[in-house]
Amino acid sequence: MERIGHYVGGKHVPGESGRTGPVFNPATGEQTHEVDFASAEEVDRAVEAAREAFPGWRATSLSRRAELMFRLRELMDQRKADIAKILTAQHGKVFSDALGEVGRALENVEYACGIPNLLKGGFSEQVSTGYDVYSIRQPLGVVAGLTPFNFPSMVPMWMAANAMACGNTFVLKPSEKDPGASLLLADLVAEAGFPEGVFNVVQGDKVAVDRILEHPDVEAVSFVGSTPVAKHVYETGTKHHKRVQALAGAKNHMVVLPDADIDLTADAAVSAGYGSAGERCMAIATIVAVGGVADELLGAIEARIPKVKVGDGMDPDSEMGPLITREHRDRVASYMESGAVQGATIRVDGREHELFETGFFFGPALIDDVTAEMDCYRDEIFGPVLTVVRVDTYDRAVELIDRNPWGNGAAIFTRDGGAARQFQFDVSAGMVGINVPIPVPVAWFSFGGWKESLFGDNHMYGPEGVQFFTRGKVVTARWPDPATSKVDLGFPRTR
Ligand code: NAD
Repeated sequence: MERIGHYVGGKHVPGESGRTGPVFNPATGEQTHEVDFASAEEVDRAVEAAREAFPGWRATSLSRRAELMFRLRELMDQRKADIAKILTAQHGKVFSDALGEVGRALENVEYACGIPNLLKGGFSEQVSTGYDVYSIRQPLGVVAGLTPFNFPSMVPMWMAANAMACGNTFVLKPSEKDPGASLLLADLVAEAGFPEGVFNVVQGDKVAVDRILEHPDVEAVSFVGSTPVAKHVYETGTKHHKRVQALAGAKNHMVVLPDADIDLTADAAVSAGYGSAGERCMAIATIVAVGGVADELLGAIEARIPKVKVGDGMDPDSEMGPLITREHRDRVASYMESGAVQGATIRVDGREHELFETGFFFGPALIDDVTAEMDCYRDEIFGPVLTVVRVDTYDRAVELIDRNPWGNGAAIFTRDGGAARQFQFDVSAGMVGINVPIPVPVAWFSFGGWKESLFGDNHMYGPEGVQFFTRGKVVTARWPDPATSKVDLGFPRTR
């Protein structure tokens, strides 16, 4: 069985802990790799490599750092098909979707290419007679990224691109479920010319995560994953005096007003509910059908479901791949059962798909007549399941979203600009779509939810990413004439 190991100080290193985990091809259900799980000592070695690289890297000029980011961008672009193949083989998402993921990873590298401009400080001349004040931002030191299974190339680059460009050295702990892409990224970072130790990878599970959270030399931790683990990361990391941003789970609502274009809305719901088999933190999970729109809309969605081509991600005809593991598939399937028992209407059951017995497949599912008390609404299913809540008014739709513990994305579908603008004003979510079902911000804005979808103060990537990976310093300077010097015990005044 092929092993997936660590990458420390510019070298691939096999694991030594004796602990490993399986990596599967979700389309077949077969195990393809064994991934090493780092011990605390192995994490320490990666942090040490990053710590050693930091002084040289932070002193490297901004122009040189930008040059390396540009080279990384070119290499990732050249090798995007190779990265995407690994994503499809280990995550299961279809190849075109995997290429799309790499494209979004690239956008973050492109943003970081602008680091000389992004790190420009402010300057005020003559704040007092002969005094100038200026602000600069400096890197933190060794920073770590803990990433989820659903975007094995994009989420690491949400973090690493800005972190490295800002002058930090980086330790990545990828998901143990699909860790392969992390090592190709490490090779590309090296090939681009980044010094050894600037980008390191430790594979592993809770043991590696907890060591990172407690390690005295790790200054900041950027996390993306489920809400319970995000809370643990935020609480443990901050207890150890680290800067932490922990992006967490989601239940994204799509509000459909009675005036919405039915075909356009049905297309969007199917794309956003079943794309990547619903394993996107910005996937639409719940359609909130306002007034009388539900019957016609659900008819249109139901008509589209049999046409969704489910299959192996490397088959160019496939539009939707399998789920990540058998356990996860079975958990997703359990909501068909609980939904029915709790009084919902299962309009399309993903277990009845012809591929259900193959690999970790589960067909697109549609559950109607869902209420806020049901498990299929309360839990993040993270699979190709659209749940539908019918409400009488717009106000009830906004109230439903407000009461939901998560607040990642929310979308509204309408032809009424005034209603859409009101929704943008009212809704308690960090990212809002107006006739856009998956409103993931482009790389020069920042990504982040509200409520239990984010713990910490900074959203990820874009300007807030630069903010997160740097700290401010303000310099007050004067170049006085020694002849005018005198002792003055008064508090410094500016007037
Ligand atoms: P996860 O929380 O299981 O794992 C995330 C990371 O934490 C992985 O690296 C994993 O190894 C580690 N981990 C898992 N259990 C741990 C534990 N007990 N202690 C310490 N570390 C642990 O998440 P996942 O299943 O890989 O990813 C899916 C989740 O991520 C979903 O909830 C999804 O909504 C969320 N997600 C959120 C965003 C966002 O931006 N808000 C983006 C992508 C995914």
